[in-house]
Amino acid sequence: MVSEADCLFCRIVAKEIPARIVHETDRTLAFRDVNPQAPTHVLVVPKDHYPTAAALAAADDGLTDEVIRAAHEVAEQEGIVESGYRLVFNTGPGAGQTVFHVHGHVLGGRGLNWPPG
Ligand code: 5GP
Ligand code: ZN
Repeated sequence: MVSEADCLFCRIVAKEIPARIVHETDRTLAFRDVNPQAPTHVLVVPKDHYPTAAALAAADDGLTDEVIRAAHEVAEQEGIVESGYRLVFNTGPGAGQTVFHVHGHVLGGRGLNWPPG
C-alpha cells in the first residue's frame, strides 16, 4: 500500500486514528467527517495515498472509478439518493483542500445551494 507516515487519512486507513467508518472495500474507505456540514457528511478515500483527485486520476483511473462508486454506495446507505446529494473533491489549496490525501465529500440530507461559496 502507498502510504505516508504523517498523513492524517493514511493513519485513519491504517486504523491508527479512530474514525466512524461507514463503508469499506479492498481499496477504499469511507468515514464520517469530524466537522459535518450537513446531516450526512462522509469522506471517501482510496486506501493508497494520492495527494489530490488530479493525482489519483492521472495514476489509476480504475481506482478513481472505485472511489466514485463507493461514494454512491454511501449515498444509497444513507438514504440520500432520492433527495439528492453532492460529491465534492476540493482540489488544491485555492479550492479549500486542507488534507492532502484525496477525499470525496458526500453531502446530503438538507437542501444544497449551487454555486457553493
Ligand atoms: P478538505 O478541506 O481537505 O476538502 O476537507 C478535509 C475534511 O477533513 C474537513 O471537512 C474536515 O472536517 C475533515 N477532517 C479533518 N480532520 C479530520 C479527522 O481527524 N477525522 C475526520 N473524520 N475528519 C477530519
Ligand atoms: Zn495519505
